[in-house]
Amino acid sequence: MAQNSNYPDTQLFIDGEWRPGAEGKTIDVVDPATEEVIGTVAHATKTDLDAALAAVERGFKTWSAVSAFERAKLMRKAANLLRERSDRIAEIMTFEQGKPLAEAKGEVMAGADVIDWFAEEARRTYGQVIPARAPGVMQMTVKLPVGPVAAFTPWNFPINQVVRKLSGAVAAGCSIIVKAPEETPASPAELVRAFVDAGIPAGVVNLVYGVPAEISEYLIPHPVIRKISFTGSTAIGKHLAALAGTHMKRATMELGGHAPAIIFEDANLDKAVKVLAAAKYRNAGQVCVSPTRFLVQDRVYDQVVDAFTDAAKAIKVGNGREEDTKMGPLANERRIPALESLIQDAVDNGAELKTGGRRIGNKGNFFEPTVLSNVPKEARIMNEEPFGPVAVFNPFSTVDEVIEESNRLPYGLASYAFTGSTETAQQLGTRIEAGMTTINHNGLALPEVPFGGVRDSGYGTEGGSEAIDAYLVTKLVTQASA
Ligand code: NAD
Repeated sequence: MAQNSNYPDTQLFIDGEWRPGAEGKTIDVVDPATEEVIGTVAHATKTDLDAALAAVERGFKTWSAVSAFERAKLMRKAANLLRERSDRIAEIMTFEQGKPLAEAKGEVMAGADVIDWFAEEARRTYGQVIPARAPGVMQMTVKLPVGPVAAFTPWNFPINQVVRKLSGAVAAGCSIIVKAPEETPASPAELVRAFVDAGIPAGVVNLVYGVPAEISEYLIPHPVIRKISFTGSTAIGKHLAALAGTHMKRATMELGGHAPAIIFEDANLDKAVKVLAAAKYRNAGQVCVSPTRFLVQDRVYDQVVDAFTDAAKAIKVGNGREEDTKMGPLANERRIPALESLIQDAVDNGAELKTGGRRIGNKGNFFEPTVLSNVPKEARIMNEEPFGPVAVFNPFSTVDEVIEESNRLPYGLASYAFTGSTETAQQLGTRIEAGMTTINHNGLALPEVPFGGVRDSGYGTEGGSEAIDAYLVTKLVTQASA
């Protein structure tokens, strides 16, 4: 039974049925704003995973035979259901994840847009006709669904991380088992419910929770699964990519980042501070594309750091359910000691703490919006993803120097820049080694633009016209007259 009447318990969804784990085990779900247990989520064991594997195999046979036109119709229905239910789903998400209600609602609505985008893409999975060498030969390629998918998603965007994988797979004609986050299980379950209520056939979409390592180590090598998609830390991503490689499974990896945010002296400084402070403290900094290394041209360095510090101080931190809250608690208690240790290490290395740096109160995982200035490269926070509300500032003088610093780390996910010079903008666009560079605004993560990284940030894209390819194989059919 749910321990908070406003928050539902979550079950597994296997073979068209909501069900408890075969052994009846559950995991507690905690509200990060109050540290109270608000509900439970069912815990899948091997018996449940075997049932999900059998279902996803059958689901693939059913769904891959449905036309793209019909798949798209069902998906649009699911998107509309999600929109209709967005207020309630946002409330559920805020309970389990902590983000402010407005951010949660925005995430649900953006999720519906992602479903619509992939629904449209389903009808455009074109092949080619290739001119033949010999007369009477017809050569063509067809795009076919890759097969049953196993997807693993984290707790920072409980719906958005699932919806990209789920929609890509379903649009392409694949079936899927989603291992959604145990910390934030109920809002992704509502996403699945929208597909169920839109009429998705049994077995096409399956949802499990449990011990992440046990589930990934069972599903990835399993012969039924043909494609893996993971979002999470680089360390776990490398482990799962290796497992996928050993078993010759296609994989998409959306991993960590350490985004540079570059501000040139010729930029619109007010706009830069406003846009970047909003991006930094959104979701309490628990965002893979969060701007982290702020690099400011020396002549405007003090001015920008001061303005950014003022912006950080002005952020109202509190329970996401309160209307004026701009930043909620961290989703997991474990991030508090992790952040404290990164900040202390920076200060020990000579960094100046401009604001923040501490937990707020002693109930709920609230943390102060933090700004560190003049942080030496040796400090851990200059090298490790903080995944929290911490901005790290350093000055630079030339374009070459700032590009070198931007590319210093093995990560390559997002990058941000503000400049008044078209020439500088062009250089940054091509020379920064990252999957995404957004200049003079924050234009990342729309369904129709690519979303993904290079180097240690992973491979593959979960947005734009190439995203559906992750779930398709290109097959040659060549045919001569009999
Ligand atoms: P973590 O590395 O323990 O877990 C990250 C995610 O991976 C979680 O959702 C977890 O359930 C999952 N996971 C862990 N081990 C797994 C396994 N063997 N198989 C399948 N899934 C597994 O870290 P955390 O404390 O939850 O989060 C902190 C770090 O995770 C951050 O520093 C950040 O780098 C990374 N992270 C990244 C994203 C992202 O959007 N790219 C999201 C959440 C967390």
